[in-house]
This record gives sequence, structure tokens and C-alpha cells, in this order.
Amino acid sequence: RIYNFNAGPAALPLPVLEEIQAEFLDFKGSGMSIVEVSHRSKWFDEVIQDAVTRTRRLLGLGDQFQVLFLQGGASLQFCMVPMNLCSRDQRADYVDTGTWSTKAIKEAKILGRSVNVAASSEDKNFSYIPEKFHFTPDAAYVHFTSNNTIKGTQWSAFPDTGSIPMISDMSSDIMSKVFDPSPFGLIYAGAQKNLGPAGATLVIIRRDMLDRVPEDLPTMLRYTTFAEKNSMFNTPPCFTVYHIGLVLKWLEETVGGMAKMEALNREKAAFLYEAIDSGGFYRGTAEEESRSLMNVTFRLPDESLEVRFVREALENGMGGLKGHRSVGGCRASIYNSTSLDAVKALVDFMKTFAKKYG
Ligand SMILES: *Cc1c(COP(=O)(O)O)cnc(C)c1O
Repeated sequence: RIYNFNAGPAALPLPVLEEIQAEFLDFKGSGMSIVEVSHRSKWFDEVIQDAVTRTRRLLGLGDQFQVLFLQGGASLQFCMVPMNLCSRDQRADYVDTGTWSTKAIKEAKILGRSVNVAASSEDKNFSYIPEKFHFTPDAAYVHFTSNNTIKGTQWSAFPDTGSIPMISDMSSDIMSKVFDPSPFGLIYAGAQKNLGPAGATLVIIRRDMLDRVPEDLPTMLRYTTFAEKNSMFNTPPCFTVYHIGLVLKWLEETVGGMAKMEALNREKAAFLYEAIDSGGFYRGTAEEESRSLMNVTFRLPDESLEVRFVREALENGMGGLKGHRSVGGCRASIYNSTSLDAVKALVDFMKTFAKKYG
């Protein structure tokens, strides 16, 4: 296996993959694979309850929150959020930090919602997280993307929105560090960055937000449909939910919880940024105060060197370092499952490469 720096789907903990392999043909004495049992069976019921309980515990969610596993990726949430939570006579505030938040804004507008862009970092090609906001006093919510996977920017602290509920797309940094969930009305995250394989979207909704869901939405697009049936209105993404449960168990029992995870993530990122900043060969693309702990984006002196860097890294057992096609350059995604050893190997390679071509 190589050191995997893919942005998503991304690396997963090896012990989890091995556990799945070991019990894949016979899940807990059922004589069936987990992908063959009924989603209404006691086996799967325990699996989904375990994933929900671990999510609640890891994030410190109070009773006011409900945990759901939906489908359609994080991208479906771009329209489900305004459809369910902002009426046509309300205004929704969005902070535009590029890519994903831009797409979320677009969907709200398609639905005819009145959108206020409370802040944007478009003036500098989304290389930073804004610090000044113009919130609408009675906005339905304030939506932001906690980590821009592509630009390599991340909120280090969340804004104070007063009594307006915050809604965040946390697809690429959920469970990477400790935060206070209480100001949030809804949090969503596609599984395939930090939680498991693709196929499920974790949605955490504050129960009072469910009162807003209008009657005229199709059943499958209503949060209430899934809240009332504990994510089991129809067949849920069983394998992904099972996989997420094991990743969360790893996070709790092997890593030792969120504080330990955050410390490790900070150590990994500091190591990598230090390598980028020293020597003058590499150049980070995000502004320093807005740098992501999860997606480290950087450039080399020219594009042909970047191509060579990605190729030689792979020859040395390190994959997934090409930047997103929309921005170019290089990107190392160092989610929870990426070990410090992987980062150290990358840093060693970067130093050798800079010496050779610098
Ligand atoms: C990957 C990603 C998405 C898109 O997720 P899908 O599950 O492919 O819809 C949305 N937002 C963020 C922040 C992401 O990193």
C-alpha cells in the first residue's frame, strides 16, 4: 500500500479496513455479509445505532440534536438546506469562501430564495477566510463551508451569529478538531473525506429546525421523513454506515477521542507547512491564518516541476498529490486517517526533491 494523500474518497484507517476484510463474509455469526443482511435486521439496527451513538459522543451533541445518515452526497444538501429551512419570504445568509459555498449559493438562488452574501473572499481568489460579515438580523440561517477542500482554507474559529442558527458544510473537516456544536442549526458532511467511503452524508440537525420543513416538499427531500424514521424511511447506505461506525470506533478507542485527534492533526499540518515555508522552493497558496489542517495546497517554481513532483512522489510510494483540476498545483490531503509517518515520509521526499531541482 502507498501513502495516500487523496482529497476524497481518501485514505481510511488500515485497522478498520482489515477488520472489515476479516468479517466481510460472516458478520458477527450471522452467516451473511453485512452487505447481505436486511436493513431491518437486528444486525444492521445495532450497526446504525452504534454509528449514531459514537457521533453524538465524539461531537458532544446534546439531546436537541438528531443524527441522520442520508444519501445524495454533500451536494444534495446544497438544495435541501434552503428548501427545508428557509421560506420564500425569508432571507438566507451565506459566506462565500469558494467552490462549495459558491455551489450552495447557486442552489439557494435556483430555488428562488433571497440570498445575502454576508462576506466573500473572491477578491483574492478565495485564498483566505473572511473576518468581517454583514449578517441579516432575521436571516433564516448563516451558511458557511468550514474547510475548503480545494483552496486549502479552513475556519480557525466560527463567527458569532447571535441567535441566527449556523449551518455548515463540514465535509472535509468533520471530527478533525474539537468545536462547540451548540450554535449550529444543521451540520452536514459527505462521508468520503474524514468518515468512511462515499455513499452517505452525515446530517446533524437541531430538532427545532424540523418545525420549519414545509408541507409541499417531496417525501425524499424532507428532513422530517428521515428524522421520524431514524434514517430508515427507505434502505439506507448500509455498508457506508457500517464503515463509518468502525472509523468512529477507531477514533474513540485507538486514537483516544477528539482532543487527541486534533493534537495529531495539528502536529501533522505544522510539520508539512514548516517544510513548505522553509527553503523558498515551495509556496503555500492559502493565507497563513486561513491555512487548512486537512488540505495543504502549495505550488512549485513552475508547472513542469509540479508534474515531475507528483510523478516522482508516486514512484516513491506517495499518491494523490496533484491539486484539484480547477486550481492546479499540488495538494496533500492529510485527513484523520493519514498517519504522522505518512506526513514525515512526504516531508523527507519534499526536501530531497527541492535539493535536486531547486
Ligand atoms: C467533497 C466536498 C463536497 C462534495 O461532496 P459530494 O459528496 O461529492 O456531493 C462538498 N463540500 C465539501 C466541503 C467537500 O469537501
